[in-house]
Amino acid sequence: MHPFGYLRADSLEAALGADAERAVFIAGGTCLVDLMRLGVMKPERLIDLNRLSLDRVVETEQGVSIGALVRNSALAEHTAIRTRYRALSEALLSGASPQLRNRATVGGNLMQRTRCAYFRNSFPRCNKLVPGSGCAAFDGENREHAILGGSEHCIAVHPSDMCVAMVAFEAQIRLRSKQGERVVPIGEFHLLPGRRPDVETVLAPGEIITEVMLPAVPFFARSRYVKARDRASYEFALASAAVALDVVGGTIRAARVALGGVGTKPWRSREAEQILMGRAPNGPAFEEAARAALAQVAPRPHNAFKVVLAQKTLVRALEQAANA
Ligand code: SF4
Repeated sequence: MHPFGYLRADSLEAALGADAERAVFIAGGTCLVDLMRLGVMKPERLIDLNRLSLDRVVETEQGVSIGALVRNSALAEHTAIRTRYRALSEALLSGASPQLRNRATVGGNLMQRTRCAYFRNSFPRCNKLVPGSGCAAFDGENREHAILGGSEHCIAVHPSDMCVAMVAFEAQIRLRSKQGERVVPIGEFHLLPGRRPDVETVLAPGEIITEVMLPAVPFFARSRYVKARDRASYEFALASAAVALDVVGGTIRAARVALGGVGTKPWRSREAEQILMGRAPNGPAFEEAARAALAQVAPRPHNAFKVVLAQKTLVRALEQAANA
């Protein structure tokens, strides 16, 4: 492993004041340490955030506030999340292994990096690693890659389950830096690859994720997360869907739809949501919504199967939410 400096911060101020712009923050380390061992990430310096008081889940009138250091397992089991944001609990429990969920944090999950094998193995042609070097996956092995949101420069899929549910729930992310504080909607936090796939989020150097806020929306309790993958556990999504339905008098009054495993970022489908509005919660509406959600796909030779898989996954999630 590449040598690096290490600082354990006792406060947010200490973390931000410690030449933070040139450092990488570490919490659970379940993604970062992997990539450091592989030699993909070579930070000069780590700032350990584990001692900061950012590990609480608090219910407020506005919704639920989640500290960035809350562990994935604790969040999944929290009563407020299980009852008011069920798809988020299901998404968290579908990811990784119990040991990893005990360690991984909410902030780290937001920063999770792609599983593209070319990227993780420092392949010479990878624009995410070396801008301008090319994309080996574009005409290479691309079975697991994105069919939505890609560019000719990168088609790496976003790996997180948690983020998909948070996109459906319109989470807000609070960020702190030396300059102050700002709040970013999760839909704007992750970036499309475009010409710069190496820039993955709007997080600036030296900026720390401190909190995720979920709004209080009663119908989010009627939500589901469905995940299709190669094996039943400890596996990333080939396609997943987080949905929430507001059904009144046999009619869908509002809907939230987000897809995972298919996009270069956690993928909100407003097209599908529009189609569901005012419709009866049944097969014809669900199938039309699923076709709309996948209408703009750009599959590569090995991953065209994801189009139908994602449609069926979305229909199943909508059926489960409707029957909840
Ligand atoms: Fe690199 Fe993205 Fe291409 Fe994978 S898909 S090789 S991460 S540029």
